Amino acid sequence: MSNRNSEQRIMTYIPPKQLEQNAVQALEKVPATLSPKDRMAIPAQEMPSQDPAVRRSNMHEVALGYTPEQAKVEALRCLQCKTAPCIAGCPVGINIPGFIQAIADGDNKQAIDIIKKDSLLPAVCGRVCPQESQCQAPCTVGKALKSVDKAVNIGRLERYVADWERENNLIEIPEIKPDTGKKVGIIGTGPAGLTVAADVRREGHSVVLFEAFHKPGGVMIYGIPEFRLPKEIVQQEIDTLTAMGCELKTNFVIGRTRKVDDLLSEDGFDALFIGTGAGLPRFMNIEGENLVGVYSANEYLTRSNLMRAYDKARADTPIFASEKVAVLGGGNVAMDAARTAVRLGAKEVHLIYRRTEVEMPARIEEVHHAKEEGVVFHMLQNPKRILSDEKGWVSGIECLRYELGEPDDSGRRCPVAIEGSEFEMDLDTVIVAIGNDSNPLIRQTTPGLETNKWGNIVADETGKTSLDRIYAGGDIVLGAATVILAMGEGRKTAAAINEMLANS
Ligand code: FAD
Ligand code: SF4
Ligand code: SF4
Repeated sequence: MSNRNSEQRIMTYIPPKQLEQNAVQALEKVPATLSPKDRMAIPAQEMPSQDPAVRRSNMHEVALGYTPEQAKVEALRCLQCKTAPCIAGCPVGINIPGFIQAIADGDNKQAIDIIKKDSLLPAVCGRVCPQESQCQAPCTVGKALKSVDKAVNIGRLERYVADWERENNLIEIPEIKPDTGKKVGIIGTGPAGLTVAADVRREGHSVVLFEAFHKPGGVMIYGIPEFRLPKEIVQQEIDTLTAMGCELKTNFVIGRTRKVDDLLSEDGFDALFIGTGAGLPRFMNIEGENLVGVYSANEYLTRSNLMRAYDKARADTPIFASEKVAVLGGGNVAMDAARTAVRLGAKEVHLIYRRTEVEMPARIEEVHHAKEEGVVFHMLQNPKRILSDEKGWVSGIECLRYELGEPDDSGRRCPVAIEGSEFEMDLDTVIVAIGNDSNPLIRQTTPGLETNKWGNIVADETGKTSLDRIYAGGDIVLGAATVILAMGEGRKTAAAINEMLANS
């Protein structure tokens, strides 16, 4: 659940040059020896970003990253708390005060080395982790200043050093232990699969990655748009894996091209990791959902990101030239779809959510960016049916208004429809972004593989499934979750696979 209070932060756009100058001035005022009070008086450093009026029509990254001065000023805000509550907020337990101190000391190399002990994807996590509900939520500075917005910007600092390492060509290929003669198959190349591949390969095992799409990277490539996560960053991770000797087989659907059982019984694999994610879109099951002009967010984003439909001059991928779009949902996927529709040229983009902004699961920063880019938010509303013209194309939606009732199992107040509150909106496109379920193919083609009532693979705390030598992790086990949780699961499971292979 998101970590926000009812009072939402309204930020005005400040140009990068101004933010840079502010940081330089702040540094000049910093005393040689800093008391905790001095540190708390240092202003939190905003992330420089592209001007909203400009970025509406390009796919380049919105957040531009800290300058060295901004990173230093932000690092000096950390109190170096002995108990470091931030570490407990990070799913992989990064030594946060340790790496921040290294940045404050000007030692970026040490900072990135500290992070990489626990995280394989810092440039990705520094960009997309929901920091305000993870590492930054318990930060002492934020607590003392009574706002999570004022916590030390841990994610931005993590991104800063990860970018510093990449931009200076300092990424090293990890050392690989001597060949063990054992072979591990990784099914799916999202953050879970990539992490297992790296950790297993380091132990000297052969690794083959299987990916259904023509490009590896999972949601980081096909789902999260370029303007939030540049694809060259994910590609760099994949290049490192291939340089380590991992073999990659794309356009290879396990369950169709080969089955799980074939890999173990005929193809000589000693262990398998299933990291196939949650890529099956949910729909609302309302009238009109199969009209022309209704997309799942997954299809819409895949067309735009993976198939590069936005690059009209060079890509053949068709995508509907929408004028009036409604996106249904309130998570990161909904924000990504809405902001993509803006960039693809829609004149109006409406985001419709049946609760209020306080309950929205999307990151605060994404909500803020979507609003800056002109997405119109409609809270406490939900479609009842999608309307059609005489040719079967979307012409609008009929919506109901809602009010909040009692809290449900998730702790969020339940939306209750207001009888007789129906109204209509004219539209030509509806994008459904209300969540994803796990991909069913492996479950359907692997007898004996235990799954739960949501279709997720059941795995124990080491990632071991009900079948011998078969492990699983990431969204296929957790349900739709986060990059860092998928990576954390990958690390834990790779350790279990390495141990099993060492003893077999
Ligand atoms: P995935 O990343 O889903 O990768 C699974 C891979 O397996 C895919 O490449 C798929 O093609 C492949 N595959 C599936 N079936 C087969 C098969 N049978 N054979 C071979 N290959 C197969 N998380 C965040 O932390 N922050 C965010 O801001 C954020 N934004 C998101 C935005 C969108 C649009 C989406 C969809 C998700 C977002 N997430 C975000 C969630 C996050 O991306 C996922 O939790 C994470 O990628 C899960 O990793 P994974 O490795 O389990 O699977
Ligand atoms: Fe925070 Fe994510 Fe980095 Fe952990 S990996 S410190 S949660 S940004
Ligand atoms: Fe620094 Fe905040 Fe962590 Fe304390 S809780 S060590 S102030 S980042």
